[in-house]
Amino acid sequence: MNTVLLTGGAGYIGSHTAVCLMRCGYGVIIADNLINSVREVIPRIEELGGRAVRFHEVDMCDERAVEELFSASPDIGSVIHFAGLKCVPESVREPLRYYQNNLGATVTLMQAMQRHGVKRLVFSSSATVYGDPETVPISETAPVGGCTNAYGRSKYISECIMQDACKADAELSVVLLRYFNPIGADESGRIGENPFGVPNNLLPYVAQVAVGRREKLFVNGNDYPTPDGTGVRDYIHVTDLARGHERALRYTEAHKGCEAINLGTGKGASVLDVVREFSNASGVDIPFEFAPRRPGDIAVCYADPRKAWELLGWKAEKDLHDMCLDTWRWQSANPNGYTD
Ligand code: NAD
Ligand code: UDP
Repeated sequence: MNTVLLTGGAGYIGSHTAVCLMRCGYGVIIADNLINSVREVIPRIEELGGRAVRFHEVDMCDERAVEELFSASPDIGSVIHFAGLKCVPESVREPLRYYQNNLGATVTLMQAMQRHGVKRLVFSSSATVYGDPETVPISETAPVGGCTNAYGRSKYISECIMQDACKADAELSVVLLRYFNPIGADESGRIGENPFGVPNNLLPYVAQVAVGRREKLFVNGNDYPTPDGTGVRDYIHVTDLARGHERALRYTEAHKGCEAINLGTGKGASVLDVVREFSNASGVDIPFEFAPRRPGDIAVCYADPRKAWELLGWKAEKDLHDMCLDTWRWQSANPNGYTD
């Protein structure tokens, strides 16, 4: 069996990707230090994936623990590197912690891969590497590195590290997946996004308003140069995103070198579009009030997804209604996340 190591695989995107890979016949090892996730997700991944997961509680910055993990798992054939801290405002307050964790984990992982002859890697990058784009849709040839926070820069620098490693080792195969805005949940409602504390992102906040955990949504900015004045993003269903990882893994099995690939739908939706669609899908009214723009936010961001189709044969299949419906199914069945 082809075995894949998922660093950060207990998290939101990792858990959905684990299920997708298990259903496609891959063996899955998850290494996560549970800094932003809970152990309770593992049995749910096993339930949905239909087989056992090998779970290791490991900090990917801990060189000795990572070496032990690779030594104990000689069957690792490829790695998907999700592990990282992802909160933009926190990264502005604590840049050193973000660089230490996100870059430390990348370097420690790649050194272990080198020692153990593991040549295939898929990386969780982000549309944030494009900064404030000059034009939309954003293609992979757009300038990168213009991001203004430590989180975004940690993604950009990780990409540079991986590109340099590929130049030094012609056997390496790396796909940098630049995600746009992942939302939604597995259609079973058994796994989903489970933020600790007040959610930073739009959908988990809306979902918590819908279940009565928060009073109302604050819509940040209604004076952007967009059709309704609110920010426009390319929301993509996490199940579509998970499939993109499976395709990227297949790609690394047949190609060498480093490719950056957008995973988005190619369509933009405003904050008010999302609120409207979520209300339709859930049958719950979402009270909101306009609030100032969030510092550093951009007006419009959506992908040119053609490269993913050309190289991976992948395109998004689910629409905003599916994304809201599945988010609602997860949140209403688990109003307090995995602790229910
Ligand atoms: P998440 O926080 O749910 O998952 C990340 C996981 O990594 C968590 O389970 C956390 O405990 C783990 N982790 C963090 N540091 C670790 C370390 N040093 N060692 C071991 N485990 C560690 O986040 P997610 O939304 O699933 O995102 C996964 C990846 O995708 C992240 O790298 C994130 O930056 C990137 N990404 C996410 C989004 C998004 O909107 N969700 C967008 C673009 C890119
Ligand atoms: N947003 C909002 N209220 C919130 C959270 C987000 O109005 O409580 C807006 C935000 O300004 C942006 C959009 O929703 O226009 C998506 O924000 P999110 O943080 O989910 O993604 P990102 O900004 O990283 O693309």
